[in-house]
Amino acid sequence: MKYLIRLDDACETMNWEKWLRMEALLDKYSVKPLIAVIPNNEDDMQKIDPPRSTFWQWVKALEQKDWEIGLHGNDHVYKTTEGGINPIHKRSEFAGLTLVEQKDKIKKGFEKFKSEGFNPRIFVAPSHTFDLNTLKALKAESSINIISDTLAFKPYKKHDFIFIPQQLGSARFVFLPGVYTFCYHPNTMNDNAFNQLEVFLKKHNRKFSNFKDLDLNHVNSKSIFDKLLSFTYFQFRKVFR
Ligand SMILES: [Zn+2]
Repeated sequence: MKYLIRLDDACETMNWEKWLRMEALLDKYSVKPLIAVIPNNEDDMQKIDPPRSTFWQWVKALEQKDWEIGLHGNDHVYKTTEGGINPIHKRSEFAGLTLVEQKDKIKKGFEKFKSEGFNPRIFVAPSHTFDLNTLKALKAESSINIISDTLAFKPYKKHDFIFIPQQLGSARFVFLPGVYTFCYHPNTMNDNAFNQLEVFLKKHNRKFSNFKDLDLNHVNSKSIFDKLLSFTYFQFRKVFR
């Protein structure tokens, strides 16, 4: 069993105090997460602090200590009410847009990363929502071949991409074998959320893996158990929402 941490919504105007608190906390327990960085943020919800010119230098320093830097869409503005192929939410920057529109977004986001000296290999869709055109756009406009998202017990291959599932919104003990990603949004975390994470890290830090250390060379297509998990989850959501 392995745990991974993903942190969403890093950008120039993030809540710096909370992000630096998270960085210090993960450093204390030697946990190296995936950071979902918004390349060209236009989302007012993510405009919290005044922009800091040192943002990209800070991201570079994270990369140099083996944190994984992922492309988190382009501008983080929701354009549609589609859920795409991972309908966690009915809103998306990507799902439902034409291939031409999506290629334009990926191109802009990827070019921004390139211009700041990054070569991301993981895509993180805002609100977890994307569709097959998003994957085509990633193929055409970037060298990204890994997606962080969807429900399964462990990484799998589909549509010529490797999917690293993202199952849980906070750290918790899972008794089934697998690779589990906990997704946090530092901008909106309160003291309680930080404290709970620390309690978990203190106890389980040895079970955490770095994204860079994951062996993705022997990943197969989705198992029947993974297909069932995903199917059951979305059926339950349909019934109970
Ligand atoms: Zn986001």
